[in-house]
Amino acid sequence: MLFIVLVLVLAALGLLVAALITANSLWAWISIGLSVVAGLLLLFDWLRRRKKRAAPAEEEAAEDASDEDEPADGEEKKPEDVEQTVLMPAAGELGDAEDTPEPQQTGDPGEEKSDPADVAVVSELEIEVVVVDEYPRYHVTSCEWLEARDTIPLGIGEARQLGFTPCALCTPDAEIAGKHREKA
Ligand SMILES: [Zn+2]
Repeated sequence: MLFIVLVLVLAALGLLVAALITANSLWAWISIGLSVVAGLLLLFDWLRRRKKRAAPAEEEAAEDASDEDEPADGEEKKPEDVEQTVLMPAAGELGDAEDTPEPQQTGDPGEEKSDPADVAVVSELEIEVVVVDEYPRYHVTSCEWLEARDTIPLGIGEARQLGFTPCALCTPDAEIAGKHREKA
């Protein structure tokens, strides 16, 4: 872009010199015309850069496309697309969390046969249970199965929402619902 402007300015200067030498005003008019075109190109370029600076994220997304002089309408639509791509990772993380509890894992304990009344109680609670990455069960923190595994603390209600199921060894639903009833 700037190269074109430079060529136009040099051409305008050349024509101006030609106009002075030949005393032909036509050359001067063409020179003025070229100067105006160069000025408009500079203005257009400046506006394009300023728009990019206002939305830095847009620059990255539009990096490939920016060199192909797109119409202004196309560029104005981009911020929405960028927002969507920014939102994608958050949605992806949630998806991962839901995928984590795969039922077919070797060596994981069975699922607790929870009393529906207990389930109703614990689903509302934020009492901490732990899960192990790649395993579908949640456990009370003292569960024997956990041994030296790396545990991830979660609220029991949240663990259920994410699709984790209670461990049959430590029966977190019965355990936590029972404790909750004692307190109440
Ligand atoms: Zn357990």
